[in-house]
Amino acid sequence: MKKPFADHETITRIAAAHPTPFHLYDEAGIRNTARAVNAAFAWNGGYREYFAVKANPNPEILAILKEEGCGVDCSSLTELMLAEALGFRGEEIMFSSNATPAEEFVYARKLGAIINLDDFSHIDFLERCAGIPETICCRYNPGHFALHNNIMSDPADAKYGFTKEQLRAGFSLLREKGARTFGLHAFLASNTLTHAYYPALARLLFETAVWLKEETGIRLGFINLSGGVGIPYRPEEEANDIGQIGALVREARDEILAPAGLAELSLCTEMGRFMLGPHGCLVAAALHSKEIHKRYIGLDACAADLMRPAIYGAYHHITVSGKEDRPADRVYDITGSLCENNDKFAVDRALPEIEKGDLIVIHDTGAHGHAMGYNYNGKLRSAELLLQTDGSVRLIRRAERPEDYFATLSVTPFGERLNGIAGRLRTRAE
Ligand SMILES: *Cc1c(COP(=O)(O)O)cnc(C)c1O
Repeated sequence: MKKPFADHETITRIAAAHPTPFHLYDEAGIRNTARAVNAAFAWNGGYREYFAVKANPNPEILAILKEEGCGVDCSSLTELMLAEALGFRGEEIMFSSNATPAEEFVYARKLGAIINLDDFSHIDFLERCAGIPETICCRYNPGHFALHNNIMSDPADAKYGFTKEQLRAGFSLLREKGARTFGLHAFLASNTLTHAYYPALARLLFETAVWLKEETGIRLGFINLSGGVGIPYRPEEEANDIGQIGALVREARDEILAPAGLAELSLCTEMGRFMLGPHGCLVAAALHSKEIHKRYIGLDACAADLMRPAIYGAYHHITVSGKEDRPADRVYDITGSLCENNDKFAVDRALPEIEKGDLIVIHDTGAHGHAMGYNYNGKLRSAELLLQTDGSVRLIRRAERPEDYFATLSVTPFGERLNGIAGRLRTRAE
């Protein structure tokens, strides 16, 4: 059975002090996972996890991960700004972007970030806008990737990376232009629930490192396994054991890199989902119950707070706080309020009877949850709260207000009027 990280008493206490909906994060869980990850790769001297900021760009979360020794993986201007504000410097920042604007390369260079190039043509582009740094990484797209003879993803359809031939030419060109330390990166499958993904990816990248050494004489300094390690969203799924994954990657190193004299190569990862996913949940209240051709429960949260079910049909486990042990003898669609029929957190889900006012816990929203929020239908994104290791709760992002939504209209005469209306409504509410 899948239980929320916070019990009924805790959720009720928090909801009494903070209006629903909100995303709640579990500091203890985040720290435990970060420690397990660092322990799993401790055999590799240069190992670092660069947390994928896009999964959860809250600076308070990044600060926790920084304390646990993680770096950050950024892919946009504002993510680089977060890295700077948090005090990440130099090689603690990976910049893995694509279709990159010049100003972002300039900023990444200023911060001394490791730039992970997405394309052969970016070598010239980077040289012209920001210069070639001493340390540089290139992203590989092998065009084909299979695991246990099952094709898990089709890199040939993916927009990312260099081909193998482009890697050979690219690393040689980068060396001519002054680069001295080289890294190789690939991200080939998402949310993998198997211990085999990282080891298979590592084998591919290790073999490519050996090939590059033979072809160009370049000895890579590091290999970046990127993200893609999954979490059990469904109750019947089993969690990945990161310790076992680390041990299998080590075997691959012993078999492939060690004989080629490359055993000292550093490893890094850019996990987002695995680091944070299970350590967040979206807490919402049941506002309405509706019976037509099916039974619906309408929440005060909507897809603007959590988009994955609406856009990918993604499964998020749901429990009714305080009713975790009751039989799931009802079937509901759990919906948000968007004027979009795909705004459903669950379809035909067996749950205990839900009454108005019940607190609904939508699990595993710590990664790619609040971060993917948007404002369609004029919906305002929810707050973020941190359940700290001492049991206290801290607001780490307030909910959006109408003024936030109207702020970019300040260029028109209506902007002022709208903000006036928003301000009056707020004063009345207070
Ligand atoms: C999204 C992303 C990640 C994180 O992926 P997860 O599946 O959340 O682990 C890592 N690296 C890059 C370049 C990404 O785009």
